[in-house]
Amino acid sequence: MTVTALKYLWKLVPFSIVACAYLLLQFSWSGHWVDSIHPSLPYLLSALLLLVSLIFNRSRLALGAINACLAYAFIQNGMQKPFTEASTQLLFIGTAILFSWHLCLTGFYRERGSISSWGVSRLLLIIGSYLTLWFLVRDGYLDALHPVIESYISTHKHDRAWLGLALLLSQLGSGVLLLVLTLWKRTSTETALLAAWLTGNAIFYDFAVNGISTTLFTALLLALFISLIQSAYDLAFVDALTLLPGRRALDEKMGTLTKHYCIAMVDVDHFKKFNDSYGHDTGDQVLRLVASKIRKVGCGGLAYRYGGEEFAILFPKRSAELVEPALNKLREAISSYQMMLRNKERTPSKKLGEKLRGVVAPRQKNVNITVSIGIAQKQPSHHSAEEVIKDADEALYRAKNTGRNRVVTKAS
Ligand code: GH3
Ligand code: MG
Ligand code: MG
Repeated sequence: MTVTALKYLWKLVPFSIVACAYLLLQFSWSGHWVDSIHPSLPYLLSALLLLVSLIFNRSRLALGAINACLAYAFIQNGMQKPFTEASTQLLFIGTAILFSWHLCLTGFYRERGSISSWGVSRLLLIIGSYLTLWFLVRDGYLDALHPVIESYISTHKHDRAWLGLALLLSQLGSGVLLLVLTLWKRTSTETALLAAWLTGNAIFYDFAVNGISTTLFTALLLALFISLIQSAYDLAFVDALTLLPGRRALDEKMGTLTKHYCIAMVDVDHFKKFNDSYGHDTGDQVLRLVASKIRKVGCGGLAYRYGGEEFAILFPKRSAELVEPALNKLREAISSYQMMLRNKERTPSKKLGEKLRGVVAPRQKNVNITVSIGIAQKQPSHHSAEEVIKDADEALYRAKNTGRNRVVTKAS
């Protein structure tokens, strides 16, 4: 199994935990193992997760922990009554909506640290909304809604508190938004929030199953814990801009390299000028684009962001001769890619000049960027991977000095 496949599997661990718990519950209705999970466990896990998230400054996971803890508390303390009672049904619907939409909103929040006015206000929003629901239901303020919301709930499908169509649509709205966000951002936190959303809704769907809330909330909180470990790993090893492994990951990998490998250093040409002309944000987009091309280099190449506008590609068990055609293809793929950019190049004096001449500069412009690549192959004379990188850098330097947009191999 390749490292990439393992990495994808690792990302799926939060989903696997909750899926396994759900399936176990489904296929062992009469199993006593469910009763062996203490009902206080989700509270304990929520408190631990909250604490560790605060220490790691992961505000969104802290919000997820509070949200899960409150939903679980409401289920344990307000819904263990006959489901025909209006107050139970109202609490069920309110909790399902609050849990799902708070998770969805949490996905859209930016990570800004937990112990800040921003973090505290979001925390108060979640706690406040749950408490409001609790008091409104307890004091009967929502009773008037009961005839209307009866269509939101159905108690007769396989004895499950089945989500009625309207509630189902509301839940689906938050779920689809979170799914789109997860696919777009692809970070471990959104993935874990989506796993939490699915778990919560599995609980609301199969509400009548014995021990479902304790079992699945325990699994859900474990999934959030795993995602905390994943995001700590990402912070240390993954470059946030390009999502490629960073310099630290390269250092680790270099320690494991065999005797036969080569390294290519890739550097974007005239990138400073590019930044000056089109702005730093556009520069960032270019780096993402280059990273996406480098990731697909083939020939067994492993891509890393080395720093700034420089990338490294490791080719374990490959010779320079073998990888050169793949790198030339990569160079061509980048140089032939047409990017449509907004033209920010015009200075006030240029603008004035255009006005005087009646010329309007095009608002958009097609630009191409190029990269230079230096390759070095591990030789018996090299004592460390750093020396191979140094040689690849020398080859890159030659590529720059001989006109850029080219691949140069260090002579052995
Ligand atoms: P050369 O062709 O010789 O490589 O010239 P260059 O301009 O690409 O090289 P130089 O080292 O002079 O400039 C690199 C620039 O890359 C400077 C810096 O502002 C920019 N840069 C580094 N990291 C980032 C980043 O994360 N985002 C953006 N937008 N720019 C970055
Ligand atoms: Mg450069
Ligand atoms: Mg450079």
